Amino acid sequence: MNGGLLDVQALTVRYGGIEALTDFSLVLQEGQTMALIGANGAGKSSALKAIAGGIAATGRLCFSGQDIGRLPAWQRARAGLMLVPEGRGIFARLSIEENLSLGRALGRQRVALDPVYDRFPRLAERRYQLAGTLSGGEQQLLALGRVMLARPRLLLLDEPSMGLAPQRVDEVYEAVSDMVSEGMTLLLVEQNAERALGLCPRVMILESGRTVFSGSSADCRASSRLRAAYLGGEDAGAD
Ligand code: ATP
Repeated sequence: MNGGLLDVQALTVRYGGIEALTDFSLVLQEGQTMALIGANGAGKSSALKAIAGGIAATGRLCFSGQDIGRLPAWQRARAGLMLVPEGRGIFARLSIEENLSLGRALGRQRVALDPVYDRFPRLAERRYQLAGTLSGGEQQLLALGRVMLARPRLLLLDEPSMGLAPQRVDEVYEAVSDMVSEGMTLLLVEQNAERALGLCPRVMILESGRTVFSGSSADCRASSRLRAAYLGGEDAGAD
């Protein structure tokens, strides 16, 4: 064990007979950010869910020096490891304000909701509206606002740009980037690979559940093979 905030060794996820994630290993030091990219069905969400405790997995999982492999998801969240899932995981029948208050309750100190409302005025305007009646983009902002209040040590963030207009994507990435500047550790799954690499200096690429690249975002971008295969690059040539 080398003291990373998160230490994942040989994590493997199976759904019935299908192996969705195979021998996934990763060490994240406190404050580091890592992008996790790959095609649809590559196993990215499965990796995040397994680390967060939402699905069963084999392998070894340590967080802040503690073996968390057998802890339920809520205890991992209490310890500071939180997932914002694809589909956001907000409470549809509660208002914006109630959802945010729950996020605050998960945090280690009592904070005002104002910073979230200041950053996302759209949520302030609708604070008593039921979350389930918000647009997809607004729900994404709410999920992020809630996590801003919970202040996790490690955030597992699944496709924050999905379904958002470009301006909203900018807002979301600014908020995430600010949390990272304040010392939060981040594992980011993102279809928009350029966005992810822009934020994270390191990247892992999954293909059919297996890790096919792990290294610096700069090296990933410099490889025309990786660019063509995973970054949507059209200018593939010899490496
Ligand atoms: P996407 O980018 O499309 O969200 P992903 O990389 O996040 O994909 P996963 O959602 O982890 O991929 O899925 C990996 C594989 O596991 C896929 O083949 C998927 O169909 C399968 N899978 C995911 N969840 C289940 C489940 N609950 N039961 C059975 N198979 C599943």
